[in-house]
Amino acid sequence: FPLLQVRDLRVQIGERTVLQSVSLDVQPGSLTVLMGANGSGKSTLGMALAGHPSYHVAGGQALLAGQDLLPLAAHERARAGLFVSFQSPPDIPGVKNNLFIRTALNAQREARGEQPLDAFDFLASAKQSAKALGLPDAMLARPVNEGFSGGERKRNELLQLSLLKPRVALLDEIDSGLDVDGVRAVVALVARLRAEGTGFVVVSHYLQMIEQLEPDAVLRLDRGRIAEAGDVELARAIARTGFARQRETVEA
Ligand code: ADP
Ligand code: MG
Ligand code: MG
Repeated sequence: FPLLQVRDLRVQIGERTVLQSVSLDVQPGSLTVLMGANGSGKSTLGMALAGHPSYHVAGGQALLAGQDLLPLAAHERARAGLFVSFQSPPDIPGVKNNLFIRTALNAQREARGEQPLDAFDFLASAKQSAKALGLPDAMLARPVNEGFSGGERKRNELLQLSLLKPRVALLDEIDSGLDVDGVRAVVALVARLRAEGTGFVVVSHYLQMIEQLEPDAVLRLDRGRIAEAGDVELARAIARTGFARQRETVEA
């Protein structure tokens, strides 16, 4: 079975149904690009899969490696190997970045029956990953995202991704706020993790990055439904004509 299997997912925020019915499969090492106009529900999909309590799953299924995610709390989903990067990564005041990542990593190792990493080994690999992502070592000792710039927050999400090596990662507009070197780091990191089997869903409208990511599939979300599925040509068509034109073309 696929690593992640989402079937007819229906999500409500308060009284409002934001995702009507969304289905997608993520295979090991695959990459799916998710596009859609503002407000079409892309971030809602990530939040609902991550287990954010404000996003109520009113129907459908989400299985990670065959395990039902929906009854699990957010931290249990992360421990099972699901990583969701936020469009706006929040501050976690008072919690040091290195401890935050090490705790998450060791919870994941424990779930797999592996020994925890000791602090020294962890720090060595964290420093190496931080360097590869252009984050100064000092960021590791600071509270998570506190006082970080937009681009530093995004790089910090990438640092977590790089160290956690999840089974499935959903990256929500990871390119926004990143400079060209940051985007290049995303492409390199994603390629490395894909080669190790991580499956990706990437929300982006940045065509140049999408092309470099070499997606297996491109989906267009429209008002809470997958309106169109294709390959990188769909991303090119959307970049060329915009969502409104694309919708008219397909609905005509
Ligand atoms: P996208 O990421 O595709 O731009 P979102 O998933 O963020 O879209 O939002 C989908 C719809 O749900 C929008 O109309 C948005 O206003 C609404 N929405 C998202 N999050 C919340 C929230 N926490 N409270 C109320 N409405 C929300
Ligand atoms: Mg948006
Ligand atoms: Mg969004």
